[in-house]
Amino acid sequence: MTEAKILVVEDEIPIRKLIVFNLQRSNYEVIEAENGKDAIQLVQDQSPSLVLLDIMLPDMDGFEICTKLRETHPDLPIVIVSARGQDMEKITGLELGADDYIVKPFNPLELTARIRSVLRRTNYNGKKQLPVDIIKTGPFVLEMKTQRLYKAGRLIKLTAREYQLIKLFFDRFNEPITRDVLLDEIWGINYFGDPKTVDVHIRRLREKIEADPSNPEFLKTIWGFGYCFHGSGQEE
Ligand code: CA
Repeated sequence: MTEAKILVVEDEIPIRKLIVFNLQRSNYEVIEAENGKDAIQLVQDQSPSLVLLDIMLPDMDGFEICTKLRETHPDLPIVIVSARGQDMEKITGLELGADDYIVKPFNPLELTARIRSVLRRTNYNGKKQLPVDIIKTGPFVLEMKTQRLYKAGRLIKLTAREYQLIKLFFDRFNEPITRDVLLDEIWGINYFGDPKTVDVHIRRLREKIEADPSNPEFLKTIWGFGYCFHGSGQEE
């Protein structure tokens, strides 16, 4: 029985074979693409549970693919694989909504561990049914089953990461949460990126949920501490 289907997008055959070998050994079903066009087609046709995305590809770069995939599959977990120094700033900013990134050369065991962690956090695996459950506060309704957020009845498109963030805030209304706790809970205890990643995601989330993102009504900054979501606390 396989764990989940992973799409590996990588044009360098030896690297791709190494990744595929290790994923298969960890019981993942693996499909492969060597360019962006095939990758986008495979996501449409075969609904992978996660995409492992190289940056330097022959037809379009990984950032462009990530953006295109996000348009059609906002919840699909995407892990970017990049050579050291390759547009690092852009990757650490995670402006494109990737769920994690891994730097080449990587330890194959770490790669599978990171994939497992992303899959667990994002809960995307189609086989797994989440319980029917909703959280309501103020104008917001969060549907856990579909991982959808509505504000005043209007659907707000969230990435997998943004869903995890909002879910955490909704579980802890009116409770100040530090950046470190957010990093541990959302990005995982072994995350080695920049803590500013949290701020970038909070800013993007505010742009989606706040009427005036620079003067937030719900998702407030606690200076020198972290963030706090002001909710009415009514659940279910
Ligand atoms: Ca490449």
